[in-house]
Amino acid sequence: GDMSSISVPPPKCLQKPLVVPHRHMFGPGPSNVSPRILQAGARPVIGHMHPEIFDDIKSGIQYMFQTRNSMTFAVSGTGHTAMECAICNAVEPGESVLTAVNGIWGERAADMADRIGEAEVNTMVAAPGVFFTNAEIEQALSKHRPVLFFLTHGESSTGVLHPLEGIGQLCLKYNCLFLVDSVASIGGAPLHMDRQGIDILYTGSQKVLNAPPGTAPISFSERACQKIFSRRTKPVSFCLDLSWLANYWGCDGKPSRVYHHTGPVTAFYSLRESLAVLAEEGLENSWERHQKVAEYFHTALESMGLKLFVKEKNARLPTVTTIVAPHGYDWKDITSYLMKTHNLEISGGLGPSVGLVLRVGLMGCNSSKANVDMVLAALKDALKHCHKNKM
Ligand code: PMP
Repeated sequence: GDMSSISVPPPKCLQKPLVVPHRHMFGPGPSNVSPRILQAGARPVIGHMHPEIFDDIKSGIQYMFQTRNSMTFAVSGTGHTAMECAICNAVEPGESVLTAVNGIWGERAADMADRIGEAEVNTMVAAPGVFFTNAEIEQALSKHRPVLFFLTHGESSTGVLHPLEGIGQLCLKYNCLFLVDSVASIGGAPLHMDRQGIDILYTGSQKVLNAPPGTAPISFSERACQKIFSRRTKPVSFCLDLSWLANYWGCDGKPSRVYHHTGPVTAFYSLRESLAVLAEEGLENSWERHQKVAEYFHTALESMGLKLFVKEKNARLPTVTTIVAPHGYDWKDITSYLMKTHNLEISGGLGPSVGLVLRVGLMGCNSSKANVDMVLAALKDALKHCHKNKM
């Protein structure tokens, strides 16, 4: 054949300009990115990031996580990537893992652990919408003797904020690493990595931080590093190998950084700026604002006659609210009406909560009374206009 002519023509669709609509991103993520953070990501690409930007990001994550761990950095990837980074480094083939399942994230963590050769994965399961007591956790730890215990702080599929007090001490007692997913909660609800004895903590950029998806803050305690750096086997993932990532981020004390992968440089600029925004507001102020806005929202929903999915008030996630799917409606009609008529994204359930709930996320700069009022008005409108089905 003639190798100078092509068989796949240039696509017609690419001749049109890129169109991205403005939307109110009030689902469980991603949330809206503020202009300041968007602009940070529009700066020029440089091949080797300035060490200052790496250091700014590290310090910002240490502040956000409330940790002094030197092994603190951002994974190139999303929340799932950080979850996999934690698990594939902390667990060796043949070891035992315990995950707390009260929604989809414990299921995902168990799936990841299960991919490690001969790993023994146990789950403790609770109904969506509830959390585990420390007594239940201790019982499972003493029964399964895992090397790693996984818990989700902000269960975005069910709307549960899991209490963390005392669990770190239990993990220490049973010589187990305590791994916490804070993708949907960090910055929006109190968490103290060091004081609460959390050994590995990760989050994502696209929720309370209001940065674009694609970078995922993570931190490892001294105890976690000791286990990981005395592994008998290499972690199966080259991309997520902590020894490589520690060097890439200058966390290993070595004088030079060796090329590992090409990080998403502009996404790191945005992450840096989002951490600066959080530091400027102050964590305590951010926690308080999310809590106040959530309470205002929850009270108004109840006075509209809607029901909150999480019964226990103290266990309601201030960032993502789960509303019992209104009786008589198809939840999909409501979410598509809101998108079509109000340019407003909320979502239905996920995993074990599919069909049971509507989920509204008000995170970071989206967490305001004005946005609550907008959601309430839009919801009222949707309930008026969507057809009630025959059931
Ligand atoms: N954990 C929780 C609690 C989450 O809410 C999410 C995102 N919905 C994830 C993990 C996964 O993050 P990502 O979509 O960025 O991979």
